[in-house]
Amino acid sequence: MRIGMGYDVHRLEEGRKLILGGVEIPFEKGLLGHSDADVAVHAVMDALLGAAALRDIGTHFPDSDPQYKGISSITLLEHVGRLLEAHSYVISNIDVTIIAQKPKVAPYIEQMENNVAHALGLEKNQINIKATTEEGLGFTGSLQGISAHAVCLLEDRQVRTNRKEGETR
Ligand code: MG
Repeated sequence: MRIGMGYDVHRLEEGRKLILGGVEIPFEKGLLGHSDADVAVHAVMDALLGAAALRDIGTHFPDSDPQYKGISSITLLEHVGRLLEAHSYVISNIDVTIIAQKPKVAPYIEQMENNVAHALGLEKNQINIKATTEEGLGFTGSLQGISAHAVCLLEDRQVRTNRKEGETR
């Protein structure tokens, strides 16, 4: 088993769409960034890359590269999934916390989980997303930005196969 963690922050600005977990959420502000600035998916990608010892999203998708301008982070997540596959890792589970004072994220959680699961070819019960506020404190509380944490577990494909064969013997 290999553990990974990811953390990301994006600034809230007027005139931007708010995309979280691949869902466009109606709000007066959106997250600023080179891509669609999906802070939740960025945290997930960094957790996965970290667990696989494959550095971070800045290494794989530099924000100086015009090909990633405005790109859907779900598309980048699919790429990370293929990278893990190529390195013979399988994902056990992913757990995400989105920290946002506003808007209320709860109604969109299920769609976010579906989007992430679909992008990585996972079952629904392998991905959990939750949201919290920081009680009006700090940069999330003052609506300057939204942050997200993610942790994940990876297994080596061969180890998992051996274990499953052992279980059925
Ligand atoms: Mg980011």
